[in-house]
Amino acid sequence: MSIYQAMFRRWDLSKPALMSVDSTQTYADLHQQVLNTVGWLQEQGVSGGDILCVQLPKSERLLYLLLAGLAMGVPVLPLNDRYTASEVTYYVKDVRAKLSILLVKPLDWYGKVMLADELPDIFPMTQTVELPLDIAPGDLALLLYTSGTTGRPKGAMISHGNLLASIKALHTAWQWQSTDRLLHLLPLFHVHGLVVAQFGALYANACTLWMPPKWTPDSVVEAWSVHQISICMMVPTIVHRLLSVSSVPELPYLRLCTSGSAPLPVSTHQAFEGKFGRHIVERYGMTEVGIVLSNPYEGEQRAGTVGFPLGEMQFRIVGSNGEPCAFGEVGELLIAGPSVISGYWEQPEATQRTIVDGWLHSGDLATLDADGYYSIVGRSKDLIISGGFNVYPKEVEQVLLTLEGVQDVAVVGLPSKEWGEEVVAVVVGDVDWSSVENIAKEQLAPYKRPKHLLMVEAFPRNAMGKVQKATLRERVAKQFSIH
Ligand code: AMP
Repeated sequence: MSIYQAMFRRWDLSKPALMSVDSTQTYADLHQQVLNTVGWLQEQGVSGGDILCVQLPKSERLLYLLLAGLAMGVPVLPLNDRYTASEVTYYVKDVRAKLSILLVKPLDWYGKVMLADELPDIFPMTQTVELPLDIAPGDLALLLYTSGTTGRPKGAMISHGNLLASIKALHTAWQWQSTDRLLHLLPLFHVHGLVVAQFGALYANACTLWMPPKWTPDSVVEAWSVHQISICMMVPTIVHRLLSVSSVPELPYLRLCTSGSAPLPVSTHQAFEGKFGRHIVERYGMTEVGIVLSNPYEGEQRAGTVGFPLGEMQFRIVGSNGEPCAFGEVGELLIAGPSVISGYWEQPEATQRTIVDGWLHSGDLATLDADGYYSIVGRSKDLIISGGFNVYPKEVEQVLLTLEGVQDVAVVGLPSKEWGEEVVAVVVGDVDWSSVENIAKEQLAPYKRPKHLLMVEAFPRNAMGKVQKATLRERVAKQFSIH
């Protein structure tokens, strides 16, 4: 059974599914739209086993396309709507998408490319579509790209069974109800906004309200009150921004505020509680496993920790020798269980390196305390998380290396109260800021673009010649004021 069927079977079709400022769609409306979209995709020649790639702004049409793909057994690759043509080209070709619906024209592609303005405004009504019932739990549902510190971006192969396991575990842990109302602030191309938030609400037969993209902190808090919102899922940058609201109304319905995708500073957690009278339930996950650790919904929500294992997930914390760590000792977090992906799209070596005997090596450094709470204390990978979005230094470095005058470049994160981290380019050579800005604008989505440039004579390197990014990070933090 597809994840769509698993959700559909739980729906009371008369209930509201999606609410916007001026309209409401019931679950019956949503289902009909999904069927119409399936019919339209079939007319475009897309059928079970093909891959669909979609880059659209957050919109109802995007959601219909994603759900239609899942319902018809067509794996979907949603792409960030801010990706440039050169970024999009890589993904479209890597998955050999049968149909790619895009905002920018790729430089080269596979299959059929349709630009967003060629899409019909409404997918025509259909009565004749039948959804397949023979989709197996191991069948591919979503391809979500993620990247390591080395190598090219990898498509995490998320199956229908992975999605169901992850959604069910959260459904229980966070006590989702069909009476819940979710305020949705996150993008639909990432596991957090798509699976945890949107599919979580759909599985619960709950109602989702999307904030317009240019929301302000005051408009969010007003929506909590006016629309009787019960659940709001956030990344630390959003939590931080909400602290600036001028007044806080009565919020009798707001029962669950969560944060994840990046570390939430204890001070921000406490400031949120002081301002809104709500604890934040901080949780941890990654594209490859979904959400797997969460502070308890009832019980002590401990700031600075990511709580307890969800569902049937299992964890180990191991030292560099692979031996299990004692309580409080820092080691790499390994994860096993039903929501762990089977591997990366057509990258068997990366799969073998990352998933060993069923244990996914997260690259995150963690501790476990005697009460059973896990904490994420760092990353063994060089990933930068800015505003909740992952920036893979290597990708930015490759773009900057093509600039004249740049002999070598290392990209690191600078701590920032608002963004979590900001991207800094450290360059050996001679280059001016405007060339860095221009090439970044041309080739990189906004959140990946360097905010600062530091020129150095040479990089600190270890005995193996590897750039010591930790030392560079310290130097960068000293150089630029922390704000
Ligand atoms: P993604 O695959 O984009 O969801 O990114 C996953 C990465 O985000 C993890 O490997 C962690 O490094 C980081 N992450 C997610 N949640 C948390 C959290 N609550 N605290 C610290 N880091 C987190």
